[in-house]
Amino acid sequence: MPQQNRKTVPDMDDFHPLYLRLSVTERCNLRCAYCRPQTGEKGMMRGSTLSDAEILGLLDLVGSALPIDKLRITGGDPLLRPRLPVLVKKIKRRFPSTLLVATTNGLLLGRQAEELRSAGLDSLNVSLDTLDPRVFARLCGIDGLQSVLQGLKSARRAGFGKIRINTVLLRSANGGTLHDLFRFAGNEDFELRLIELMPIGVAAEIFDQEFFSAGEALEMLSLRFGVPRSLGLSGTAERYLFPNGQVLGLIRTQSAPFCASCNRLRLDSRGWLYPCLHDYEGIDLFALWRSGRPEEAISEIRRAHGTPGVKRPIKDWTSRPMIRIGG
Ligand code: SAM
Repeated sequence: MPQQNRKTVPDMDDFHPLYLRLSVTERCNLRCAYCRPQTGEKGMMRGSTLSDAEILGLLDLVGSALPIDKLRITGGDPLLRPRLPVLVKKIKRRFPSTLLVATTNGLLLGRQAEELRSAGLDSLNVSLDTLDPRVFARLCGIDGLQSVLQGLKSARRAGFGKIRINTVLLRSANGGTLHDLFRFAGNEDFELRLIELMPIGVAAEIFDQEFFSAGEALEMLSLRFGVPRSLGLSGTAERYLFPNGQVLGLIRTQSAPFCASCNRLRLDSRGWLYPCLHDYEGIDLFALWRSGRPEEAISEIRRAHGTPGVKRPIKDWTSRPMIRIGG
């Protein structure tokens, strides 16, 4: 084959591997003050979540455009999707070498952890911002802390390896109690990850009062647990090793944005693809798939993924609620 012909047909090795976040439902059983609009979202939550077959069709399309290194199932809360383990099993069968992970608020893990593990889910992140039941109820809208803690235990019993706890840094909810979360994570052998609040959707309204930086959090923890040493970046998290052997991850969405190294795409529960959390437009991948134009879809997916290191810089944060796009 002549040299120039070979160059015109890109091969999978030409593309940077993809970390795909897949939202499987917009429904959530929490109403966290920084994530979900407190009212007026009924229309948003109705109808059109994709079926398993449609999700697999879209994943096949994405998988033929780019090598999917890692696929994170998210939502809403993904565990609210009926028969999630069945979907997990189908995805794992179709993409056996992709790391298949999920992010949940943990409320329903008590019932589902074992089935999810047997279905092929490789690992879990559980979101938890406080260990104080009253603060939890105020922040998330229901009295659910005990169910989350129960869910974490079930996940451990089900044999998930390193379970991560994701905590959004919020001055009023955990500014004074991070040491409790850190100690809890250490005792239970979970890895704590502290995430800087992003001014997305409803969070924009509370951002000025609630934001505090990962650097400030690290200083607070160093005063109690000793000065850690950096282990460097792992994905979007900078990891630190404390003198007691415990590892902490910091996700500095605001103080040190990582756009340049981002390799994520986001597929929402209606089949729209977003290159970025602050991309308002997105691509209607479902429509492209239904219209039977795979070549067009594949080139749109590749264009959205872009070249690593040259993703667009943040101009405006979207007003789309986080719950719609899945974090
Ligand atoms: N319901 C699942 C959960 O709670 O993990 C998955 C969806 S949730 C949108 C994914 C993650 O986004 C959670 O860890 C949540 O705390 C985080 N999140 C939501 N809004 C955020 C914001 N404004 N800034 C930073 N993180 C946010």
